[in-house]
Amino acid sequence: MGTLTAVGERQHVVIMGAGPAGLTAAYELMKHGVPVTVVEKDPSYVGGLARTVEHNGYRFDIGGHRFFSKNQEVEDLWTEILGPEMLTRDRLSRIYYRGRFFAYPLKAANALWNLGLVETVLCLASYARARVFPIPHPRTFEDWVRNQFGWRLYRIFFKTYTEKVWGISTTELSADWAAQRIKSLDMWEVLKSALLPRRKPSRRDDIVTTLIDSFRYPRLGPGQMWERVAAICDERGQPVVFGQSVDAIKHDRGRVLSVITRTAAGKIAEHPGTDFISSIPVREVIARLDPPAPEAVQKAANSLSYRDFISVALMIDKADVFPDNWIYIHDPTVRVGRIQNFKNWSPSMVPDPSKTCLGLEYFCFEGDGMWTSDDAALVALATKELAHLGVCSADQVFDGVVVRQAKAYPVYDDAYQSHVEAVREYLQSQLTNLHLAGRNGMHKYNNQDHSMMTALLVARNIATGSSYDAWKVNAEAVYHEDVHVGERDMTGRQVPQRLAGEVRS
Ligand SMILES: Cc1cc2nc3c(=O)[nH]c(=O)nc-3n(C[C@H](O)[C@H](O)[C@H](O)COP(=O)(O)OP(=O)(O)OC[C@H]3O[C@@H](n4cnc5c(N)ncnc54)[C@H](O)[C@@H]3O)c2cc1C
Repeated sequence: MGTLTAVGERQHVVIMGAGPAGLTAAYELMKHGVPVTVVEKDPSYVGGLARTVEHNGYRFDIGGHRFFSKNQEVEDLWTEILGPEMLTRDRLSRIYYRGRFFAYPLKAANALWNLGLVETVLCLASYARARVFPIPHPRTFEDWVRNQFGWRLYRIFFKTYTEKVWGISTTELSADWAAQRIKSLDMWEVLKSALLPRRKPSRRDDIVTTLIDSFRYPRLGPGQMWERVAAICDERGQPVVFGQSVDAIKHDRGRVLSVITRTAAGKIAEHPGTDFISSIPVREVIARLDPPAPEAVQKAANSLSYRDFISVALMIDKADVFPDNWIYIHDPTVRVGRIQNFKNWSPSMVPDPSKTCLGLEYFCFEGDGMWTSDDAALVALATKELAHLGVCSADQVFDGVVVRQAKAYPVYDDAYQSHVEAVREYLQSQLTNLHLAGRNGMHKYNNQDHSMMTALLVARNIATGSSYDAWKVNAEAVYHEDVHVGERDMTGRQVPQRLAGEVRS
């Protein structure tokens, strides 16, 4: 055995993972005077999914990260940590489909104008047909959306992007999931809003519009928030332990005693503590228990699945390529799902204002053809697709870098809730000093704010003996900003349900 961190009678909390949840827990515990050890497998980055990667002075996110919360405590915490470095940014994001940009959130007049007279008439005819001859007993996502919108609108605004994000055919996703999340179309309302002058917005509209139109963002990207918290840990003599992957979680008689970590070079260290917070994937926590969890619990944890993600950052010798923060690519002729323009999130994300850095996002499964493609092939694909979309010419791309992100999205299939419940029941009853927090840490589709809230509650329970239930933190799938007239969500960001009996193994 390598190092053994000394722990006396005093409380000492070992935190697994230095993402938003792990670092929020550390920050809160330090405020209460509780010493912590944060172990992180990445050799240099903190922030997890919310890290900002740097390449030759260009900074980019793993997917653009808006800072927005309905929870004032979280908003205040962000201000407390970064102060004036938190910018308020205007939002512009559009949908690209076959050479045209559609406002997002969708606006009826803009959509009809963009579709052109012929396509609009065809869409209206296809809508009318769907209303008169609906698919009886819609079972799939495709059936349901076609019934509500008609085939043509379904194809433009729903099919491709949903399939790109989730890697599942819309004929395999459940109609219930669509019905819960997509508002049906009232064509009369659409035509009215397209053709008649708009009423004066109410105060509530103003508030919602504000949420839709702007968000906060650290000047140097989301990673800056977590780099600052890590620096504070360091200043207080409790630096993040980098490059240490959790290898085993040792327990005895109902309590975790220590966490064993291993570096890439095979060096082992033991971190004893009185309480343990895990923000690493639930599946890994159960797999690392020593002695092992009961077989049924292992099986439940192993059944949890994830959607993975590749971001290809391309540096372009052009000052302005498009004004949006990001664009949803519904176009079926390319594989890219979304394109981020990082200098539009914050001008400081690029070292030279005459250049641009775009992040092309590809949704995939770890181990599939996209995931295993080599970096040069992915940069070539992204460059080709940018040129195909007319964003820039291939010879304007002067550099490219690939970031693969495993477990970007916890998947909610029909069985996930019972699997999470089995794991949670086991841990809560058998290992009372092991606390789960965060996104993959709880297998919840949490954004940063909810990941942070779970960590705050868990930390407070440990420091003050209170008994908040972190599982009750709202895990709503989508932000306010994505809810708008005509539909609840057209981005496919929410997590779909597969049809019963067709769950990926
Ligand atoms: C594409 C995308 C876009 C997003 N957009 C937004 C957005 O706009 N706004 C927003 O608020 N949120 C957004 N999110 C969500 C946000 O990234 C997460 O809510 C947040 O990062 C979760 O924090 P966490 O600490 O729970 O987990 P993570 O960020 O996953 O951090 C977990 C940490 O644990 C470490 N770890 C894992 N395994 C081990 C191990 N075995 N040993 C040691 N360390 C380990 C990881 O390296 C990581 O640092 C987005 C996420 C994605 C994928």
